[in-house]
Amino acid sequence: MIKYELLPKQLLHEGTCIDENFFAPEIPNDKHIVAAHDPEYFYDLLNLKIPHKEARKIGFPLSENLVERERIIADGTMKACEFALEFGVAMNIAGGTHHAYSNRGEAFCMLNDQAIGARYLQSKKLANRILIVDLDVHQGNGTAEIFQKDDSVFTFSMHGAGNYPFKKETSNLDIPLQKGTGDKEYLSILKETLPVLIQKHRPDFIFYLCGVDVLDTDKLGTLSLTLSGCKERDEYVLMTCKYHGIPLQCSMGGGYSKDIKTIVEAHANTFRLAVDIFS
Ligand SMILES: [Zn+2]
Repeated sequence: MIKYELLPKQLLHEGTCIDENFFAPEIPNDKHIVAAHDPEYFYDLLNLKIPHKEARKIGFPLSENLVERERIIADGTMKACEFALEFGVAMNIAGGTHHAYSNRGEAFCMLNDQAIGARYLQSKKLANRILIVDLDVHQGNGTAEIFQKDDSVFTFSMHGAGNYPFKKETSNLDIPLQKGTGDKEYLSILKETLPVLIQKHRPDFIFYLCGVDVLDTDKLGTLSLTLSGCKERDEYVLMTCKYHGIPLQCSMGGGYSKDIKTIVEAHANTFRLAVDIFS
């Protein structure tokens, strides 16, 4: 998608970031991937041996390049986890592949970057109790399934009730929102919920899936946030993590507004806020 090229260009151009703020992920060790995914599924993916019917659910023809790209995205999230521990916050300019289940892919997601990141932190004993805040307009069904039986990772998804996936999984907390939900209602629900989750689950690390497909201009999303409402959402999550001193990794997730400028602007806002709040 073109946004992945335009977003870093915009951030450099406006001076939000300098070259040194970027890192380049690589192909990670398989062991990190199979900590979150069924090894049989992962090696089928790697060898392009996913059965045709299952491959169709992913949505694009599988190729070596695509699988490699997905592995590199997962590494981006793992590296961002380490930078978040160092700097308080770090972002993956891609990522948010929350429709990938432990043993199958769906909706353009093959490997679940934040689930892999969570397992990575736990295996290195860098974090123990994790909270995943998924505010993409689509439910984090794959993430919910991966951590279904794991009390150490709390999955929270706030999404459009009428959006894909139509058969939703059960997260630790799901808040489905009605079509047309706007800034005021959305933000008040978020502000009532997030502090309670932090208080109850006591996470030592937070993953944030900050999809901008919650905008009213989005072609797929059923919600109606304005650009400034979406920015206030990000600001609230970032400020809350900063206030509690909990490191935060962000993956960009979806954004399908008609005008590419809107998408880039909404994602750039997340980075601008991170710079303002954490430096
Ligand atoms: Zn989405």
